[in-house]
Amino acid sequence: MPDKNPRSEKPKEKTHRGIGVSPGVAIGKAFIFDSEEVVVLKRQIDADQVPLEIARFEEALIRTRQEILDIQSKISERLGTQHAEIFNAHLLVLEDRSLIEDVIKKIERDRFNIEYIFQQVGNKYADIFSQIEDDYLKERAADIKDVTRRVLHNLLGRKREDVSKLKDEVIIIAYDLSPSDTALMHREKVISFATDIGSPTSHTAIMARSLNVPAVVGLHDVSRKVKSGDELIVDGTSGVVIVSPTKETLRKYSQVQNRIAVIEEQLVGLKKLPAETLDGYRIALAANIELPEDVPNALAQGAEGVGLYRTEFFFMNRKDLPTEDEQYEAYRSVADQVHPHSVIIRTLDLGGDKFLSNLQLPREMNPFMGWRAIRFCLENTDMFKDQLRAILRASSRGNVKVMFPMISGVEEVVQAREILEEAKDDLRKRGKKFDEEIEVGAMIEIPSAALTADIIARNVDFFSIGTNDLIQYSLAVDRVNEKIAYLYEPRHPAILRLIKQIITAGHNARIWVGMCGEMAGEPSLALILLGMGLDEFSVSVVAIPEIKKVVRSVRLGEARALAEEVLGYSNIEDIRARCKKLLLKVAPELLVLKGAR
Ligand code: PEP
Ligand code: MG
Repeated sequence: MPDKNPRSEKPKEKTHRGIGVSPGVAIGKAFIFDSEEVVVLKRQIDADQVPLEIARFEEALIRTRQEILDIQSKISERLGTQHAEIFNAHLLVLEDRSLIEDVIKKIERDRFNIEYIFQQVGNKYADIFSQIEDDYLKERAADIKDVTRRVLHNLLGRKREDVSKLKDEVIIIAYDLSPSDTALMHREKVISFATDIGSPTSHTAIMARSLNVPAVVGLHDVSRKVKSGDELIVDGTSGVVIVSPTKETLRKYSQVQNRIAVIEEQLVGLKKLPAETLDGYRIALAANIELPEDVPNALAQGAEGVGLYRTEFFFMNRKDLPTEDEQYEAYRSVADQVHPHSVIIRTLDLGGDKFLSNLQLPREMNPFMGWRAIRFCLENTDMFKDQLRAILRASSRGNVKVMFPMISGVEEVVQAREILEEAKDDLRKRGKKFDEEIEVGAMIEIPSAALTADIIARNVDFFSIGTNDLIQYSLAVDRVNEKIAYLYEPRHPAILRLIKQIITAGHNARIWVGMCGEMAGEPSLALILLGMGLDEFSVSVVAIPEIKKVVRSVRLGEARALAEEVLGYSNIEDIRARCKKLLLKVAPELLVLKGAR
């Protein structure tokens, strides 16, 4: 007779599909960090229980306060005090008299358990804030929600899982992960992330890529469907999470994992070698970074300097604007760490999907095309000059370059350069040292700049092609809208023609041309770019070994022939197939790492 005991039946394999945001395969046990909602039951209480419930509430507030102070001190140790300051807003919620009084009044009047009352009041406050048309106040709604969850966890005696002292390797499953969650994680033990919500630019995704662990986001309800201890496979390349895999699936993925490990081992061996083709043609291979803390890993992966330092991250997650001195410290730290290589510091590129709560910018219908980046800086010259002076001061060892984002025409370059000259004058008056010959570049990421690259080239020392935006603006595809993601295509003939035109315009004007958009970090596309004559590839840290590998595996002539050929193709699939064919010939291992796209 078949065994009917349900407990002896192995759970069925189940696949959840999401968005793969950090490639690779992880096999391990789930660790449910946090699921969506704290479920609270509603219970009527007697009048004599009210003081007891209020005492429990006060105790929970005190415990939560201590918890937040602990997080604050751990984060300031790991990431610096400015990152810990965001928690001041959380502490303020805990001290909010009107919220606390509302809770007490309501429990005395309605007589329900404190968890229920507190959740009602917390949600009401969060709703009020989230409906206000003001980004700063909207963010307060997120603070209130976060604090409400913490207090409820304390009231229910349910400690949020402590991930700072994990003993075994785990796959973190969560509804979402905030910067504070990930900052506290015991990094060596976290082998992968999978979350219900999120996009490729969400914090979880960025964090996973910088930790170099596979991750999938946008899985809808995975945190409710999986239990701690469940066996999981996370495939960050194709964006799936498999729960309770069969022996056959496990065997297949273990093989992929082994192949990846062998390839990664080979790539490690390239770290100290130059990024040059088989016939000795060398390109510059640099890293894109967001914070000074990213530099050690970038260098360890073999980056020759930083080709894009996105400074806006320094302005985010804090209540005030960083001062010139504070910025100088950060920029100088990067310049010192990368010396004798150089760092290209991009001036503030806020707007689009990067907002700063402390600036209270007006809401716009089309934020990606709105009052942002250089447009904003040219009007807010005090703030802009603070940043330029900080960059200039960091340039005193001669290894800093500055570049302006979102240039739409030459006038903006001319104006930005005038302000840069004023900043230099200020420093001369103050007797501060800086590199008088600092190189100035323009990001070419708007079609109008690409089409007038010959004019702009006469006014700058270098170009950096920002394909993330160039593709979005040229193809009219919102880069963060997953519904139309299928149209976001770097192989579109329009994009390839624009890139070729930008490189030619730069070279005709005798300036060098780099690329810092994600396209430069895709091995099969890097082959085209190499063939088109791109001088510098600045890519995310994880892509550095792969790009080095592909460049070192090919002859310049082969890449040139590829570039020439694909420029003559009229459809995307032919271009994809032609690139894949060359990649398969020169570095087939990379197809295993990246999936077969
Ligand atoms: C780009 O647009 O390609 C780019 C590198 O900048 P960001 O992604 O920060 O807009
Ligand atoms: Mg951009």
